[in-house]
Amino acid sequence: MKLLLDDYYRKINYLRLSITDRCNLRCRYCMPEEGVDLIEHGDLLTYEEILGVVEVFARNGISKIRLTGGEPLVRKGVVDLVKGIGEIEGIQDLSLTTNGVLVREYAEDLAEAGLRRINISLDTLRPERFAYITRRDKFKEVWEGIEAALRHRLSPVKINVVAIQGFNDDEVQEFARLSLTHPLHVRFIEFMPVGGGSDWHGEEGISSSQIMEEIREIGELIPVGPQANDGPAQRYYIKGGKGEIGFISPISSHFCAQCNRLRLTPDGQIRTCLFSDDEIDLKGAVRGSRGEAHVEEILHQALQAKPEGHHIGDVRFKKCQRGMHAIGG
Ligand code: SAM
Repeated sequence: MKLLLDDYYRKINYLRLSITDRCNLRCRYCMPEEGVDLIEHGDLLTYEEILGVVEVFARNGISKIRLTGGEPLVRKGVVDLVKGIGEIEGIQDLSLTTNGVLVREYAEDLAEAGLRRINISLDTLRPERFAYITRRDKFKEVWEGIEAALRHRLSPVKINVVAIQGFNDDEVQEFARLSLTHPLHVRFIEFMPVGGGSDWHGEEGISSSQIMEEIREIGELIPVGPQANDGPAQRYYIKGGKGEIGFISPISSHFCAQCNRLRLTPDGQIRTCLFSDDEIDLKGAVRGSRGEAHVEEILHQALQAKPEGHHIGDVRFKKCQRGMHAIGG
């Protein structure tokens, strides 16, 4: 397998593939109620095009793929895409990030198609609050989706929580307790200043260390040793717990030096950093006449363009314009 290195000698082996900007929820901090201007259908990469890209990327050193969105499960035929990606030589890890609403329906087919593990975003354990935050009354569906994911061994099932003051900060301990009673990996992700679509300003995010402090009131956080597929999460468990608790801290302790990822938007733009609006057009190469060599060339251009780090917290930082729903988080 080839090794993809960027200009800072970081090994890049991970592609986060956003396959749609559509979503069946309207989380207040992510998307306005009325939705957003959607990418035109003809501008979306087709599944055939996506598979072609993944083949070229995999030949060059990408071994890990995560499907995201928008909500990836609202795009028709997603199970076939999972199967197709899983069959590509060199892809060793295939996962999906979802809001969970449709997992109950798809878990079995996804597992059969070759999906290994799943991340389900869930910011509250209270049905009424869920309806408020997401503007949709779908807590029951999501919870049943989590149960279905566990049943079909999409393991580990990770629960991603964005903790926000005044929204759900009073549920930190309840989420932590979930890792005691269920074999779930509950991960707290710091709120990030991304996207234009929300009425959110960022001051309300809570740092991982604040959350850890609260959790220590219910039990000691014992570190989990490094394991395969470790991302940037700091991982812990509480003694006797069936699951884990993780912290992802892009703001309070950024992990740019270990960043191993590229992102591809639904309309075929490579983003080399979540927080930068500099995009590299891959779709032109995919649809152009120069074939795979051109796709490969764009991949290498992206590697050269990958910045050393984000500038959150310094004067150079500008909040990026493309919303999280169109990048994939
Ligand atoms: N629909 C899928 C889901 O809900 O997981 C995938 C896309 S969604 C944009 C991915 C994740 O980004 C969700 O966990 C969501 O809570 C998170 N997210 C959205 N805006 C965010 C922000 N500004 N900071 C941190 N996380 C954010």
